[in-house]
Amino acid sequence: MSWSFETDSDFQAQLDWIDTFTREEIEPLDLVFRGPGDPWDPASPAARAMAPLKQIAKDKRLWACHLGPELGGQGYGQVKLGLMNEILGRSRFGPSVFGCQAPDSGNAEILAHFGTPQQKKKFLQPLLDGNIASCYSMTEPQAGADPAEFECIATRDGDSWVINGEKWFASHARFSEFLLVMVVTNPDVPIHQGASIILVEKDTPGMEILRNSAVGPYVEQGDGVHGYLRFTDCRVPAENLLGEEGQGFLVAQTRLGGGRVHHAMRSVGVLKKAMDMMCERVLSRTTKGERLADKQLTQEKIADTYTQILQYRLHVLYTAWLIDKYKEYNREVRKEIAAIKAATPKVLQEVIYRVMHLHGSLGMSDEVPLMNMWANIPELGVVDGPSEVHKITVARTVLRDYEAAPGLFPTYHTPALREKAMAKYGHFLD
Ligand SMILES: Cc1cc2nc3c(=O)[nH]c(=O)nc-3n(C[C@H](O)[C@H](O)[C@H](O)COP(=O)(O)OP(=O)(O)OC[C@H]3O[C@@H](n4cnc5c(N)ncnc54)[C@H](O)[C@@H]3O)c2cc1C
Repeated sequence: MSWSFETDSDFQAQLDWIDTFTREEIEPLDLVFRGPGDPWDPASPAARAMAPLKQIAKDKRLWACHLGPELGGQGYGQVKLGLMNEILGRSRFGPSVFGCQAPDSGNAEILAHFGTPQQKKKFLQPLLDGNIASCYSMTEPQAGADPAEFECIATRDGDSWVINGEKWFASHARFSEFLLVMVVTNPDVPIHQGASIILVEKDTPGMEILRNSAVGPYVEQGDGVHGYLRFTDCRVPAENLLGEEGQGFLVAQTRLGGGRVHHAMRSVGVLKKAMDMMCERVLSRTTKGERLADKQLTQEKIADTYTQILQYRLHVLYTAWLIDKYKEYNREVRKEIAAIKAATPKVLQEVIYRVMHLHGSLGMSDEVPLMNMWANIPELGVVDGPSEVHKITVARTVLRDYEAAPGLFPTYHTPALREKAMAKYGHFLD
């Protein structure tokens, strides 16, 4: 029997170092580089500023450490990554400095599992080194949450696949060296058997970016990083198909499962940062003769926030522990990932709102980072699938362990249970 909530002392020492490094060296980047491509665009000034910090993470052997040693990581697994990410999540730049940023971390896993030796040499190594960016493109303008509506098709023509169709919200497409594109390769079977993932190199003729959307009203229109793509007779070599034809969703699971739990781990970091701000604020602000911290209505907010964050954090770490235990995205793991994916925007919404509220006008001003945190919440309810779809997964999986009552009344109907209980213990009443 082993059941522990402790971090071993060696790893705790590393976490303490990561914490100081994040606060002192990484968080200031958030105040200087605010472009929509930061921190992912390798050609941005932010990338130059990050380069020495990445080297420090590599020298400390903390680079991409969720990956196995064969991919240049330490093979730490998801629990350790979770503990790291809840520190790195304090900054937009944290994951990139430590080589575990989305979507590149998941794309690297797909290439590692399914790429040819040439593809690995050309794309995987530079991606793992943090020198190039990559894109995962699945959503279509008419269809996101329901893949059965996908229309972007690839047809085999000799030694090539020819792609036609559109993709939507392909993050980082405009500065990625390659895109992993989900396409329909057999429209005559259900989509989960008829979709495949194809690698498309940047500048391949026939692929164009119609425009780049941004999340939020913060940049000039068209200056975002989420590409609206059109493929017109876009021809790629046959070996660019990753995995078996028709296995696109199986291949995608390699990254989507991990990606969803990593969003949650980073969200723990955001929540803890917000909690720190809340506590400092209520101890500092005085009104009607006492600190906010002394008012019971504030104390309730502190208690609720503390409890919600702890519950969420333990659920995230439990899910990470399950992934490490089973080493695959089995039904149990998928249920927990779906549960925390759906919980993420909800807990952020409640906590960040409370913290903003306690800061009054300052909370919603551009002089504290709370409005940025707030603006990111809606995307966490949609990216990698909307909450509703994940809740459906949770409910269906939970219900698999139950059966309908055999009779008219439930199995826990007291009259029948009492009759049985009386037969067993009733004689003691005599
Ligand atoms: C910041 C950001 C980055 C993204 N990056 C990428 C990327 O790199 N690559 C990529 O392929 N995609 C990306 N996406 C797209 C994302 O995966 C989709 O937004 C998501 O799958 C939902 O699809 P949709 O936007 O078309 O919404 P829709 O499918 O139109 O859903 C809209 C709403 O309808 C409701 N709904 C949908 N299905 C159900 C259901 N079954 N039951 C009940 N209600 C339902 C929900 O309220 C849902 O939010 C990104 C999105 C965001 C916000």
